[in-house]
Formats: sequence, C-alpha cells, structure tokens
Amino acid sequence: MIPNNSRHHQLYPVLSSAQIDSARRFASAEPVQFAPGEIIYTVGTRGAAMWLILEGSIEVVRRDGLGREAPIITGGPGEFTGESGLLGDRASLAEGKAGSDGCRALPFDAAHMRALVVGSAELGEIIMRALILRRVGMIGTDRVGSVLVGRHGDAQMIRLQGFLTRNGYPHSVLDIDDSNEDTRLLIERLGIQGDKDLPLMICPNGVMLAQPNNAQAGILLGITPQIDAQKSYDIAIVGAGPAGLATAVYAASEGLDVIVLDQRAFGGQAGASARIENYLGFPTGISGQALAGRTFTQAQKFGAKMAIPLEVARLDCDTRTGHCACN
Ligand SMILES: Cc1cc2nc3c(=O)[nH]c(=O)nc-3n(C[C@H](O)[C@H](O)[C@H](O)COP(=O)(O)OP(=O)(O)OC[C@H]3O[C@@H](n4cnc5c(N)ncnc54)[C@H](O)[C@@H]3O)c2cc1C
Repeated sequence: MIPNNSRHHQLYPVLSSAQIDSARRFASAEPVQFAPGEIIYTVGTRGAAMWLILEGSIEVVRRDGLGREAPIITGGPGEFTGESGLLGDRASLAEGKAGSDGCRALPFDAAHMRALVVGSAELGEIIMRALILRRVGMIGTDRVGSVLVGRHGDAQMIRLQGFLTRNGYPHSVLDIDDSNEDTRLLIERLGIQGDKDLPLMICPNGVMLAQPNNAQAGILLGITPQIDAQKSYDIAIVGAGPAGLATAVYAASEGLDVIVLDQRAFGGQAGASARIENYLGFPTGISGQALAGRTFTQAQKFGAKMAIPLEVARLDCDTRTGHCACN
C-alpha cells in the first residue's frame, strides 16, 4: 500500500448509502457485474472510468515499466477507484480487478466524473481530495509509472526527469553504473547496446524508447491527450503558467469550452519555485509545483482540455470571422 496512513480515510473514503444514491444520477451507465478476478481496467488504459463499488470488492495494484507490481488497496462497497489523472484522460497507472467475491460497480467516465464533482459540492470535495492525494501518493513511490535507465547527472536524464516531475508523472531511475547485483541483472536483461540507448524510457505498458524527446515521452506515456484537430473551442490558451491556468479555471467554470496548450508542463516558471509566499490564500506559503498541480486539476474539473506537451508554432487569426487557429 502507498504509505500515508494518517490520511487513509481521505485517500480511501467510504461513501454512505445516501451519498451513493446521490452519486447514482451522475453515472455514465447502469451498474456492471464483474466475475471474481475479472480485469476491470488495466495499466496504460486511456479513458478508464472511475468505479463506485456497490457490492463485492475491487483489488487495485500499481505496476511499473519493468512489470514490478505492488498492491494499492482492496476497496469494498462505498469505495471508488481512480486518481486525478483520469479527469484529464491520462493513461491509467493502476490495474483494477474484481475481488474473490466478484463485484458490482457503477462507472463514471471522465465527463460524468466532472459532472459529479461539480454537481454535488459534498461529493465533489470528498472525491477531488481523494483523487489528488492518490496521484500525489504515487509520485515518489516505487513500482509505478515509467522506469528511466541511464546515468544520474547526465544532461538528457535530468531533462527527462524534470519533464516527468513537472508533469506530475511517477517514475523511478535505474543507474547503469549501479553495482547492486539485482540492478545489474535487470539492466543486462534489457539488452542495452551502449550509451546511444541512454537514457532509455520504459513505459508502464512495457514499450521502450531510447533517448525520447519530451513530445515522444508525452505521447508514449499517455500524458498528451488525444486531440480532435477539427474541434473548435471557445478559448485556446497558449501557456499553462499561472496566468494560463487561472484563465482556464475561470473560463471553464463559466461553461466555456477551453483548451490549454503548453510546450513543456503545467506551472510555467512558477512550477520551478521552491516556495511561493505571496500568492493569495496561502498564508503559510506553498511550493510552485503544488500550487500548479492544484490549479491544473481544478481547471480539468471544470472540463478544460490540457494539451501538454504541445508547442504552438503559429497563430492564424482571421480578422473577418474572428476565428483563430493554433498550429
Ligand atoms: C524560481 C522562480 C521562483 C519564483 N518565485 C516567485 C514567487 O515567490 N512569487 C511570485 O510572485 N513570483 C515568483 N516567480 C515568478 C512567477 O513564477 C512568474 O511571474 C509567473 O510564473 C508568470 O506566469 P505566466 O503564466 O505569465 O508565465 P510563465 O510562468 O512564464 O508561463 C508561460 C508558459 O507558456 C509556455 N509557452 C511559451 N511559449 C509557448 C509556445 N509557443 N507553445 C506552447 N507553450 C508555450 C511555457 O512553457 C510556460 O509554461 C518565480 C519565478 C521563478 C523562475
């Protein structure tokens, strides 16, 4: 289990029967019955639903790129699966299967999750807090996310680690020079041909890529969302720094269709700040990454689409129609 026991009841709250009843009207489909041991969602799945358990149980495990697995929790009636990445359609970092007694559960796809957390203040607070804490708990935990193989201190390794950290993506590092016997065996098994393969990124679904750039890493790890190039938005925001994220929260919460594009990560310059003391509402200060992470999730809660990492090369503005296209 991911250590954070003092917050267990916030990480894995159990909804009362009255709360389950009020959640029901937001579900994306009727309850689904799963046989004992049946896989409900798997690592790397995009568009995985949040499941609210009505009967039986769901066993949730995390797994990294090397197939190393660890249990997260076995949830029972009133508990729900998922973490904040699901709000933004990111690829799942965990696998859920029905427990030995099977399971009956209600699905909420991303759109219905958003409707639930916005439509019910009481459930919204409980669910959003749990989803954010679960994601934060995965960062810095072993056996989840990507495995980077390379050398500590290598410039490309630092760039890749920075990219994943700034995007809130869990990862671990295997140092090619590590003399530990287990690590040496693992590295040998990967068949690395030499420095030209380093850093090597291993995705949770087992796909490997040598020396990926940020755009390739974003796509392979399921950080970059699928984007319909034909779709029009009310507002396109270039840059997911504090200004872009604030605009996204306000515009999306007013019901506008919003897309935010950033070439690197959410948070902009502020994401690099160890401590911000002068932001409204945080009298004890907050790290830039924590502030950016909260705002990023808040914007997604209201439906803003986060197109990260994507660089905008050009804006084509038609002064006659008022339409603008980002390329
Ligand atoms: C280390 C550090 C500590 C700081 N501490 C504080 C502090 O304590 N208090 C304080 O008030 N301020 C602080 N600042 C300043 C604060 O971070 C900035 O004022 C703030 O981030 C500016 O926000 P912004 O959204 O306007 O722009 P930025 O934060 O610069 O964000 C711009 C975003 O646009 C993206 N972008 C740019 N061009 C493109 C393109 N073509 N396509 C796609 N994306 C693009 C970038 O990747 C970036 O994410 C600090 C800054 C740093 C670097």
